[in-house]
Amino acid sequence: MADLKTEIERRRTFAIISHPDAGKTTLTEKFLLYGGAIALAGSVKGKKTAKHAVSDWMEIEKQRGISVTSSVMQFNYEGYCINILDTPGHQDFSEDTYRTLMAADSAVMVIDASKGVENQTRKLFKVCLLRDIPIFTFINKMDREARDPFDLMEEIENELGIKTYPINWPIGCGKEFKGVYDRHKKEIISFTANNGQHEVEKMEVDINDPRLETLIGEQHRQTLVDDIELLDGASYDFDMDAIRHGKLSPVFFGSALTNFGVEPFLEDFLKMTTPPLPRDSSEGEVDPFSKDFSAFVFKIQANMNKAHRDRIAFMRICSGRFDKNMEVAHIQGGKNLKLSQPQQIMAQDREIIDEAYAGDIIGVFDPGIFSIGDTISVPSKKFEFAGIPTFAPEHFARIRQKDTLKRKQFVKGTTQIAQEGAIQIFQEPFKGMEEVIVGVVGTLQFDVLEYRLKNEYNVDIIMERLAYQYIRWIENKDIDIKQLNLSSDTKVVQDFKGRFLLLFTDSWNINWALDKNKGLILSEFGR
Ligand code: GDP
Repeated sequence: MADLKTEIERRRTFAIISHPDAGKTTLTEKFLLYGGAIALAGSVKGKKTAKHAVSDWMEIEKQRGISVTSSVMQFNYEGYCINILDTPGHQDFSEDTYRTLMAADSAVMVIDASKGVENQTRKLFKVCLLRDIPIFTFINKMDREARDPFDLMEEIENELGIKTYPINWPIGCGKEFKGVYDRHKKEIISFTANNGQHEVEKMEVDINDPRLETLIGEQHRQTLVDDIELLDGASYDFDMDAIRHGKLSPVFFGSALTNFGVEPFLEDFLKMTTPPLPRDSSEGEVDPFSKDFSAFVFKIQANMNKAHRDRIAFMRICSGRFDKNMEVAHIQGGKNLKLSQPQQIMAQDREIIDEAYAGDIIGVFDPGIFSIGDTISVPSKKFEFAGIPTFAPEHFARIRQKDTLKRKQFVKGTTQIAQEGAIQIFQEPFKGMEEVIVGVVGTLQFDVLEYRLKNEYNVDIIMERLAYQYIRWIENKDIDIKQLNLSSDTKVVQDFKGRFLLLFTDSWNINWALDKNKGLILSEFGR
C-alpha cells in the first residue's frame, strides 16, 4: 500500500473555467498529452460534431455519456497526480457545471485574448469566489490578433474583482507573435511560426541587451522593455498567500493550439497550487491527511442506462484513503454500506478502482439513496460537510400535466427530477403543486425534463416559457412576504425547502425591490 501522506501530497485537483470556444478543450488535451494520458490531441471530446436533436433522450444521453466519461480526468505528470474536473459548457451548461467547482481545490481560467472576460467565465468565477480558491489565468490564442495585454489585465481586475500578477508577458500577437518573457526566470520563450510549423526556444536574456533585437526585432524589444518597467513599477507584488486565497491571480499568456506556453504554465501552476485543503464540516475542519476516509457527493448522473434507471453519484474524497472493500457510513441516509462499482475516469476510459485518495473523484453506483451534498465517511465518524449551495437558475417555465388524472405521476416525476438536482422547482406561496414553475441554469434541461416525464413517468406536459431572468433568495428570516412592496412583474415563489424567493424580469426590478424594501437581503445562492 502506498504511503498515505505521499499520495495525498502529490494530488492536484482543479477545474478549468471558460466561456465556450476560449480553448478549454484544447488546453485540456495538451495537459493530457504531457501526462501521456492520451496519445493524440483531438481525442478528448467528440462534442463539436454531436449536435443533438431536441427532445431526443437517446441523443441527449449519448451526449451526456460523452460528458460523463470526460468529466474527470486523472493523469500523472512529474510526480504529481492530477485530477482535472470538466465544467460542462455549451448546451449542457447546467447547475452541475457550478457544483463541479465545489469539488475543485483551484481553478484555471482560460480567456480568449481577443475577447477578454466573457459571460460564462463571469458566472463561473462568482462561484469560485464563494470558496476563495486560487485562480490561475491562461490568456489563450496569442497566435491570433489579441487585445492589448494591459487592457486585458484591467478588465479582469475590474470585472472580476481579483488582482492580477502576470508571470509572463507577451511579445506581440497574431502574425507578429514572438513569444513571451518570463518575469521570474528572466527568460524569453520565443515563438516562430513557419508554414504551419511552430518552433519554441527558451533562452535566458537581459531584455536591455540590444542583441535581443535579432531575435524579436527592435520595436518589440523596446515595447517589452517599456512594458516590463511599467509592470514592475505599477502592478501588484507577487504574493503567494494572496494567490492561495484567490485574491491574486497569476496570469500566463500562450497559445494552446500551437502548444505554446502550455508546459511552462502547467509547471508553474502545479508548484503554486496546493495539495487537497481542509474542508469545513459540522465538526470543524477535516484534515485531508487524516487516515479516516471521508467524501461528499457533488454530482449525480441519472439514467446512465435506460433499462435500469441507474444513477452514478460522483464524490470528492476529502480525507484519507478509500478502499473498495471498506464499509462506509452514509451520514444523511443514516446507514452503513459498501460503495458499489467504484470507478475512476482515466481520460476516456472508465475503470473500476481498488483505492483512491483525498483529492480524487470517484463515481459509484447509486441505487437512488444519495443526494447532492451528502457526506460519506468511515463509520466511526459522524459529521456533515458544509452543504452545496443552490445556484440561481436563469430560465423559467410554467408546467402542468396535460391529463389531469396523471397528477400523482406528475408530482412524483417533477419532484424526483428536482431532487436529483437537474432542475429546480418553485411554487406560488401557500398553494399546492397545481402548477409548477421550473427553473434551470441551461435550457437543455427543459428538454430533458419534458422527455423524462414522458418516458419514465408517462406524463405529457404543457410548458410555457416565462419572461423571468433573475431569481434571488430572500435571506431575511423574519419577513412578512405579503408586506413586500414589489413591482407588478416581480413574483414571489417558494422552493421545495419552503424558502421564499423573488423572480425578476430584469435587473432594474431587483434594484426597485431593494430600494422600496429597506433591510431586504437578496442572495444569488440558496444556502
Ligand atoms: P472550448 O469550447 O473552450 O473547449 O474551446 P476549444 O478548445 O474547443 O477551442 C475552440 C476553437 O478555438 C477551436 O477551433 C480551437 O482549435 C481554437 N483554438 C483553441 N486554442 C487556440 C489557440 O491558441 N490559437 C488559435 N488560433 N485557435 C485556438
